[in-house]
Amino acid sequence: MSDDKRLVRVRFAPSPTGKLHVGGARTAIFNWAFARANHGTFILRIDDTDPTRSTEENTRVILRAMRWLGLDWDEGPEVGGDFGPYKQTDRLEIYKKAAHQLVKEGKAYYCFCSPEKLAADKKAAQERHDPFQGYPRTCRNIPPEVAQARVDNGESHTIRIKVPLDRGDVVAHDVIHGDVVFKANELDDFIIFRSDGTPTYNFATVVDDSMMGITHVIRGDDHLSNTPRQMMVYEALDRPVPTFAHISMILGPDGKKLSKRHGATSVEEYRDAGYLSDAFVNYLALLGWSPDGSTTIVPRKTLASEFSLDHVSKNPATFDIKKLNSINQTYIMAMSDSEFADKILIPELRSAKLEPENSTLHEHTWYEILASVLKPRTVVMPDVIDKSRFLYVGNVIELDEKSVKRNIVKPNTKSYLTAAKRALESVSEENWHAEQINAALAPLPDQLDTSKRKFYGALRVAVCGNQVSPPMGESLELLGKPCALARIDNAMPLAQ
Ligand code: GLU
Repeated sequence: MSDDKRLVRVRFAPSPTGKLHVGGARTAIFNWAFARANHGTFILRIDDTDPTRSTEENTRVILRAMRWLGLDWDEGPEVGGDFGPYKQTDRLEIYKKAAHQLVKEGKAYYCFCSPEKLAADKKAAQERHDPFQGYPRTCRNIPPEVAQARVDNGESHTIRIKVPLDRGDVVAHDVIHGDVVFKANELDDFIIFRSDGTPTYNFATVVDDSMMGITHVIRGDDHLSNTPRQMMVYEALDRPVPTFAHISMILGPDGKKLSKRHGATSVEEYRDAGYLSDAFVNYLALLGWSPDGSTTIVPRKTLASEFSLDHVSKNPATFDIKKLNSINQTYIMAMSDSEFADKILIPELRSAKLEPENSTLHEHTWYEILASVLKPRTVVMPDVIDKSRFLYVGNVIELDEKSVKRNIVKPNTKSYLTAAKRALESVSEENWHAEQINAALAPLPDQLDTSKRKFYGALRVAVCGNQVSPPMGESLELLGKPCALARIDNAMPLAQ
């Protein structure tokens, strides 16, 4: 539990400038889990104040990805809440009022410096190696009535925060990084409102976080450098500073920041590649957090009761697709055959148009048998499609050329296929189950004085078209007796 006495309120505040990516999803998971573990409130807020890069479509995609991840939010878009609206573009009046209030209180001021003047000032400061390279506070001393008259006259202006001259170094207390000191001379009177009437990120975020009663700000450590400026806004607004927790970056296997170069980065690409939401959340939660340093399977329920910021590492985490795959497999193996059939197999076969949309071609047990053999062979969900295809092509299956060469165009294979056919004919329709089929075939390699590899190799390619297929008994059972026999007949002319 958090030691903050206030009820925990956290937020995930994505900017809809793109899709929800892996790093953002991990931040969302940490916030969600922290809220749940502390019986707090998880808020989703859309930070769309960058009009040139934010789109409605991205917002829609982010919400959809959040839903797929199963990260339910207590307040935010689509669910509402007492502190809304939860989209920054719907809050512009709030920011405007807050900024003007600060001007009125003498904690912020109008600045009329043109971009050219600002650039010239900066250049001059660089040339004289001034330790203070920020805004030289040119407009800070304009008498308020004069400034107001210029604003009323329509003069272009921004609003800047007035950082107290004696403020000194700013120390941000961060749960993950400890105390982080920012030097006073790195702080200038930064802009909180642009000349186009929009708030800057550092201002809007703090207005929202303070009005929404956010107690803990958990976000990527690319925002650590924004923290001292945000603290200045809290101080100006006279609101309590929340507890900060800046989480590390996620790196690719080459040690560089995770990016498109490393493969899929958006959440929905992983959904579409066939990862289970539970497994994906489990994996991302372990990027920088672990209940004890060794556990790798952390079900959502455990995450929601045990997550704590104390166990979050400040070192960058490395995205490891092998680990994600192994966790996905673990979740798949934990499913019952019936669940695997209903949640993975049938929907995947339908999406590949092998199964008709609304009817099932087979009894449920048929899918369960297929599920039992495919489950251990499935890393991501669509893996089941190619492995099931041989069951859907009817009596005439196209045989893989290489497999035929290696397994059928070989001495004595005619006798193998003939013996197999005879043995299978002897299994009645009602006994047509893997166990009985295997029992009928088992003595044949010895009787034919050949190896199992050669015997089953020929049969497998004849029946499944390929040398890699699920186990023989189940494959034959699933195909059904007439189809299995017909396929052996069809392959016979190739045998020697
Ligand atoms: N909109 C910011 C981002 O997406 C949020 C930063 C914050 O959490 O304060 O990076």
